[in-house]
Amino acid sequence: MSTEKPADTIPGPESWRPETQMVHGGTLRSQFGETSEAIFLTQGFVYSSAEQAEARFKNEDPGYQYSRFSNPTVSMLEERVRLLEGSEDARATATGMAAVTGAILSRLSAGDHIVSARALFGSCRYIVEDLCPRFGIACTLVDGRDLDQWRAARRPNTKAFFFETPANPTLELIDIAAVSEIAHEIGATVIVDNVFATPMLQRPLQHGADVVVYSATKHIDGQGRCLGGLVLASKQFVKDHLHDFLRQTGPALSPFNAWVMLKGLETLPIRVKAQCDNAVRIADMLAEHARVATVLYPGRDDHPQRAIARKQMAAGGQVVTLVLDGGKREAFRFLNALSIAKISNNLGDAKSLVTHPATTTHFRLKPEQRAELGIGDGMVRLSVGLEAADDLIADLDRALARAYA
Ligand SMILES: *Cc1c(COP(=O)(O)O)cnc(C)c1O
Repeated sequence: MSTEKPADTIPGPESWRPETQMVHGGTLRSQFGETSEAIFLTQGFVYSSAEQAEARFKNEDPGYQYSRFSNPTVSMLEERVRLLEGSEDARATATGMAAVTGAILSRLSAGDHIVSARALFGSCRYIVEDLCPRFGIACTLVDGRDLDQWRAARRPNTKAFFFETPANPTLELIDIAAVSEIAHEIGATVIVDNVFATPMLQRPLQHGADVVVYSATKHIDGQGRCLGGLVLASKQFVKDHLHDFLRQTGPALSPFNAWVMLKGLETLPIRVKAQCDNAVRIADMLAEHARVATVLYPGRDDHPQRAIARKQMAAGGQVVTLVLDGGKREAFRFLNALSIAKISNNLGDAKSLVTHPATTTHFRLKPEQRAELGIGDGMVRLSVGLEAADDLIADLDRALARAYA
């Protein structure tokens, strides 16, 4: 018999499957051996001596200093999501918008230029279109589906490309690999807002992107409790851009909220799968309904960019957008007649939520900008929850009948 010890064959967290990573990844167990992750609800940390404090500030002694910089509960969250995304480094922020703003402003300076897809979450569009120019960062908005527009928008001072895919609320897709290649020809950083796809369905870094941002408020919490955000990137990007920016400007995530997100991650794989399964059935039901003019869902063969969905997404996601026959009147009647799906602007929640983008999330845009994005008055965004699909289908069917009664 061989006397070789199998000790070095225990597979580490990097080789675990996502479901295992989301339950155990990143756990820092204290001396008490708690089962569930501890909430380190503390602003600061005490040092055993003045010498240790000095060493810690000089970065010669590993350990925590102040929760604006880092905190053990927040570190657990960062490591867990880092494992899932397969990135070198991760930073958590107080909100998704803090993650977006941090990634963009830490990378760019006055005199630089950013190219962004124009189909964006409203606040993201404000950052690139209104905020960046105030600080001397020029911005060009393009139709993200058109690779020639990305190519033509490049300037010698272009430092970043920014987009979300699928985009809110039209669920149009952007080819991550193709756009990344165009950006990298001039050394620009590709920042992808991956909220709609979630890390379960799409890994932008594997398709060539450099930085991924999340609103953890959405699927990662997934139960409508806390705000949070994440930035995933290379160690180099974090060191050169993000690290100091986040520490000194202070969009730190509360340890309590980080703990809620950690608990959310434990069930993320099964929640996203169940929501996607529901969404497929609902998209099919809506597509067959006489009052629904269009169903936009990346998981259906009639999605105009189905080939891109196949290439970069593992499933179509849990958001279904529909365009009703008629306009605002019919859309409002439909929303008001729903009883299980609630009218709200969040998404990724256990509860099904419906939004009328033209009058809420995209109300800030001018009518011609909405028209350019294809956001009409009959458009409704449905974030499919964890309820029984049959109950949701009955609710939608009844509300459609009442909207046109
Ligand atoms: C919600 C959302 C954000 C912003 O996240 P918050 O946590 O609300 O700050 C950014 N991008 C997309 C695509 C979103 O859906």
